[in-house]
Amino acid sequence: MGSEQKRFEEQKRRVYLFVLPVVAASLALNLLITDEIRPVQIINFILLVGIMICWGLLWTRFPLAVPEILILIISLIYLLAAILSSLFIDMLAQGEPRLGDFILYMPLVVVLGFLILERKQAVIACFTLLLFMIAPAIPVWGRLTDSQINSLITLYISLFVYTLLSFFLHILYRRRAEQRAIARFAYIDALTGAANRHRIDEWLAEKAERADQEGTEFSIILFDMDHFKSVNDEYGHKTGDDVLRQMADLVRSQLGPGDLFGRWGGEEFIIITDAELPDTMALAERLREAIGSHHFGKADKVTASFGVAGELPGDTPERLLNRADERMYHSKRTGRNRVTGETAEE
Ligand code: GH3
Ligand code: MG
Ligand code: MG
Repeated sequence: MGSEQKRFEEQKRRVYLFVLPVVAASLALNLLITDEIRPVQIINFILLVGIMICWGLLWTRFPLAVPEILILIISLIYLLAAILSSLFIDMLAQGEPRLGDFILYMPLVVVLGFLILERKQAVIACFTLLLFMIAPAIPVWGRLTDSQINSLITLYISLFVYTLLSFFLHILYRRRAEQRAIARFAYIDALTGAANRHRIDEWLAEKAERADQEGTEFSIILFDMDHFKSVNDEYGHKTGDDVLRQMADLVRSQLGPGDLFGRWGGEEFIIITDAELPDTMALAERLREAIGSHHFGKADKVTASFGVAGELPGDTPERLLNRADERMYHSKRTGRNRVTGETAEE
């Protein structure tokens, strides 16, 4: 399961853990304030017990699908039992002019259906529920008074409207979530979670502009994994990917809050920091040390070569990048697994 999906399920679990006791409390209150025991109270009591069992399952971190389906089933049974008792006992036998309070919970069940099921399944479930609500009233329709018929029709119309509304809200929210995901992934490298080239270009342009206008400083670190081709050749591409992923996590754990981290391409990465050059050199040294001393699973030890450059007045991002790139290749030429700030030739 993807981490997004897991996070969503965790959020749903927390919402249920909070909402179910509220529903249970209102049911318990309902039971306490009535003095006579009527069938609907027995149904309420069974629903209350069911909700408490579901809450227990959620609390003990049972797979979410089980309490969810259980909640849905007991809610549907509740609605069906409630309409039968309201129709045949309250209305027909006792002459009550309207359906009971249970219809107040009906929108909750529709919303729950859309939260738990896929959109199409939820629509089918809601329309099936509507049919089950209509069916018992058909044979006795002629015996109902005008106000009883009004009450039933109001229930049917509102069930239909809530289903329609939930359907469109579901579409809108799904679309918005997709747009957000697209916007996020347009800037993120899928393998390492670091910013991609597109985002890095934007960052560099923003930093350079601010440096021009406000005289702020910034520095960059470029680094490239050493002999990475042989990691792939020896242990396979998948292990290579794994190393890049672990390395990205390792680097992130070393960065300060304002430091920006991106994948420049292949096994080459960039850090943009507002720190001054000596501090940036120290950061590069720390990263070199951290990568070089880490155990990367199957591949065990890997190293990286670093080039550091600070922004100079009148610099363009290209010139800054070129300096860092030359220094990184200087690190490669002079033995790898090292940091170069300035070369003798400069
Ligand atoms: P050097 O120390 O000179 O940088 O040697 P190198 O082998 O790292 O350099 P080279 O540029 O020849 O090879 C880079 C390798 O990195 C080749 C490519 O297969 C590998 N690589 C680039 N991107 C990825 C990736 O996303 N996953 C994996 N597994 N390998 C990658
Ligand atoms: Mg390399
Ligand atoms: Mg490379």
